[in-house]
Amino acid sequence: MALLLNGMGVSRGIAIGPVFILHRNQPEIIERSVDKKSVSAEVRRFKSAHSKARKQLEKVKRDIPNDSPDDISAFIETHLLMLDDAMLSATPIELIKQLRCNAEWAIKQQRDAIVKVFESMDDPYIATRSDDVNHVFGRVLQALANQSIDEHHNWKGQIVVADDLTPADTIHMQNDGVAGFVTEMGGPLSHTAILARSLNIPAIVGLGDARRYLNTGENLVVDGSSGMALAEPDDFLIEHFQKRQRDIKRVARDLVKLTDAKSRARSGERITLLANIEIEDDLKLLRKVNAAGVGLYRTEFLYMGRTDVPDEDEHFRTYMKVVRALRGAPLTIRTVDFGSDKEVETVSTGPLAHNPAMGLRGIRLCLSDPSLFVPQLRAILRASAKGPIKIMFPMLTTVTELLQAIELLETTKDSLRSKNIAFDEKIPIGGMIEVPAAAISAAHFAEHLNFLSIGTNDLIQYTLAIDRIDDQVNYLYDPLNPGVLSLIKNVIDAGSKKKIPVTMCGEMAGNSEYTRLLLGLGLREFSMPPNSILEIKKVLRSTNIRSVRRRALGFLQYSDKEKQSAMLERLNA
Ligand code: PEP
Ligand code: MG
Repeated sequence: MALLLNGMGVSRGIAIGPVFILHRNQPEIIERSVDKKSVSAEVRRFKSAHSKARKQLEKVKRDIPNDSPDDISAFIETHLLMLDDAMLSATPIELIKQLRCNAEWAIKQQRDAIVKVFESMDDPYIATRSDDVNHVFGRVLQALANQSIDEHHNWKGQIVVADDLTPADTIHMQNDGVAGFVTEMGGPLSHTAILARSLNIPAIVGLGDARRYLNTGENLVVDGSSGMALAEPDDFLIEHFQKRQRDIKRVARDLVKLTDAKSRARSGERITLLANIEIEDDLKLLRKVNAAGVGLYRTEFLYMGRTDVPDEDEHFRTYMKVVRALRGAPLTIRTVDFGSDKEVETVSTGPLAHNPAMGLRGIRLCLSDPSLFVPQLRAILRASAKGPIKIMFPMLTTVTELLQAIELLETTKDSLRSKNIAFDEKIPIGGMIEVPAAAISAAHFAEHLNFLSIGTNDLIQYTLAIDRIDDQVNYLYDPLNPGVLSLIKNVIDAGSKKKIPVTMCGEMAGNSEYTRLLLGLGLREFSMPPNSILEIKKVLRSTNIRSVRRRALGFLQYSDKEKQSAMLERLNA
């Protein structure tokens, strides 16, 4: 009999295929020596993995159903105690310092020593406790390995069911032709979700316990719109969903007819539709839909899935590839925005942050470490001599930060000038407005910038105080919240007063439900995953902006959900 499970649909489309349950492999442990000046970075890596393992265990504990036997929570409690014990929290740090070795090797030394003691005990119960030791150490090791996946598995046609997927996993699987994703964790703004949308892979996130109910090899239907997963569907259901797949493809084919159509509203206004890109493959999609350029290039992806850090020349070569592919269309390069859900192993975001979304991330991290920031600035400037590039700073909170970033950019320009290295003297500088304080004071930022870009993913997260990857609070995620809308309106108004362009590059810009509303609020530039562009074009071409303006402003007055839904339906009719 078919089994129906529900999660959160985050990337539209229907996938039908066999399940592959992803259980992480224990990484192989190799000794690496660490030089003296890198010891503290290695200690930080260990601490960060230790905290990640702790958070995972705390979540497991929170998720234990109330009616479970007491033994279950006692078991998890024991693991938490072990994790906090000096044998796992302090001794590995001593070993890293003493042996000048990598964190993995220090953990292995400590684990082997403890397991040996347990196994030498006569008492059979105590002897088997070495399994617990292995589990707990294993969890920290997996966190250190950033949960990397088996590179050799072929994902073609399969639906991957996992606790969570790193962006690197997602990209790797897509390259193989994976059919769909189901993850137990995550929300609509987690990077798994954003990537799945941009890669056009149907995906469901936040489907807790998926791996308990599903088995490798059984057939699964994933509906990435409704969030429904259907295991072992009968022939009738398979036929029904195959028909839905065909319908979706037909709608997509109809949209293709709009590829060369003008991007103008019915009332005549010209609207700019730009693409968000992360990886090289996005460029092919971008060309297919005739995007006007790139409104957001997320450069963190250059650092993912590797053990070294890209240098200035690698940054430059990568940007040049994009510049060439764009053939004269504008490219907005966002300087790296590490931290929170965009951690990479090779860049430390400082000692363990209790709340990484509010910690040392984005421009804060870049300003604190010019050795990370300057090579990227130099590469962006050098590439600006070859094509129309704009530079954009993420996560601005204060104007002081912006001025510091601009000063560093100016110093970098001076150093290029002194060596006669060409760059665009008038390179436009933009700021992402994604922190509520910056949105409220957008006019101050506009004084110093050539354009503003609204990052609704973070703006919504911070305005509504919801962690964008925490599935427990996802129900609060609401772009229509009047608080959010009035901040968006404030940024648009600040831009038009100063006569500088305002783009929106958060996911809201690519959701056709909100296109008319945003046009009515005054937005004229949208940047989104390339595969949303034609759908947004279809909506704007049917929109008379003058007639939606008053109704759009009406959304700022209401917080009643039912009323808002009815208003949205009328606006989009
Ligand atoms: C945003 O916050 O809206 C945004 C576009 O940036 P990111 O999703 O990369 O944080
Ligand atoms: Mg952001």
